[in-house]
Amino acid sequence: MNPVEIIKKKRDGHELTKDELNFFIKGYIEGKIADYQVAAFLMAGFLKGFSDLETKILTEIMMDSGYKYDFSNVEGLKVDKHSTGGVGDKVSIPLLPVLVSLGFKVPMVSGRGLGHTGGTLDKLESIEGMNVFLSKEKMYDMVEKIGGGFGGQTENFVPADKLLYSLRDVTGTVESIPLITSSIMSKKLAEGIDSLILDVKCGNGAFMKNFDDAKKLADNMLSIGEMFDKKMVYLITDMSQVLGEYAGNGCEIHESIKILKGELENDVYKLVKAMAVLLMEKNGIGKSCEDRVEKIKDVIKKGYAYETFLKIVSAQGGKLDKLKCDDLFYQNSVKIVSDRDGYISYFDTYKIGIALIHLNAGRFRKEDNIDHKTGLKVYKKIRDRVLKGDIIFEVFVGNHDYQESVEILKNSFKIEESDENIEKVELIKYIKGV
Ligand code: URA
Repeated sequence: MNPVEIIKKKRDGHELTKDELNFFIKGYIEGKIADYQVAAFLMAGFLKGFSDLETKILTEIMMDSGYKYDFSNVEGLKVDKHSTGGVGDKVSIPLLPVLVSLGFKVPMVSGRGLGHTGGTLDKLESIEGMNVFLSKEKMYDMVEKIGGGFGGQTENFVPADKLLYSLRDVTGTVESIPLITSSIMSKKLAEGIDSLILDVKCGNGAFMKNFDDAKKLADNMLSIGEMFDKKMVYLITDMSQVLGEYAGNGCEIHESIKILKGELENDVYKLVKAMAVLLMEKNGIGKSCEDRVEKIKDVIKKGYAYETFLKIVSAQGGKLDKLKCDDLFYQNSVKIVSDRDGYISYFDTYKIGIALIHLNAGRFRKEDNIDHKTGLKVYKKIRDRVLKGDIIFEVFVGNHDYQESVEILKNSFKIEESDENIEKVELIKYIKGV
């Protein structure tokens, strides 16, 4: 087989066979096919698309490119959640301990921040000592002894995705539904789970800006998961404003802790509850929706979910005495206030994510270091009443030069006199799989 023939076949819009895809991807991992050829292949695939069968084969090849987990000897249903990412999306952090407290096993492998969106691993690393790069053995240990762990993609966990993703990142080929699907699903399937819930974000702070694109991606991932006999559910949820109250890293850990302690019942809590309910329903747990909600409220009220979080953090090296606000985020802040009375009509959530990167809460380049203590609190949601002088954002700045971030944030929202024409935001827009 010849790489150039395979590139040409894809360029001309033909479906590739399993042997051809295998030859190409394996050849790349083994260093036999050059970066520039893979870049051409990715662009051809981006433009001409991949069929469902090709997407399934790509997923399988990537999933099998390194080690995989096999939890068949561990009792209990193994589940996980994946979000396509947004600003303030910390759902995985409270959800994992809630799921473990409900009896699920959760071998979660998460990612770092991507573009303007935050990443679970960066958020968790705000906790002093926390090690998110769990070896294969450590993840087995965490799942067996505690019920779950927060891991990251190691060198040998789905290495084909690691290589392909870095190339996609610099060749303008990230936003391809089959390539995103195979990248995400190869990692989730390699976790050895029985069931997966997907949270596909939609809105100006998400990668999928509109509902139709979000649904196409969600449907694609759901069908690939089902081809591998996984019980799949998805939600399409709003990302037209910051999710929850905080965006950054340490401050999002603070918010997650409040949710786990039952002190906050905001939109993050609603998503945690909805996802846990859906996973229970999909896997035949609980008698009714009310019964499932009761069980979730119970594990929070009785402190089981928070205790589980502490156990996981401690087992991963995190210092439990470093979970206070002072340790998690800067306490000196700059406030951005409203210059008029009215109603919040719009947030540019992408800009909010970029403002955070200017404070080093995220990265412009892969090599950039994160400052885990910067971030912001957003005091208002779309359609909220505001009066002149009301705080919209409180920005935790430390010693950073914050002028640029503050300028961006000042231009990241709109206020209208009346709420008549402001559409209500639906947090959960669509659910499929139950
Ligand atoms: N996240 C991933 O893991 N892969 C993609 O392709 C996009 C987002």
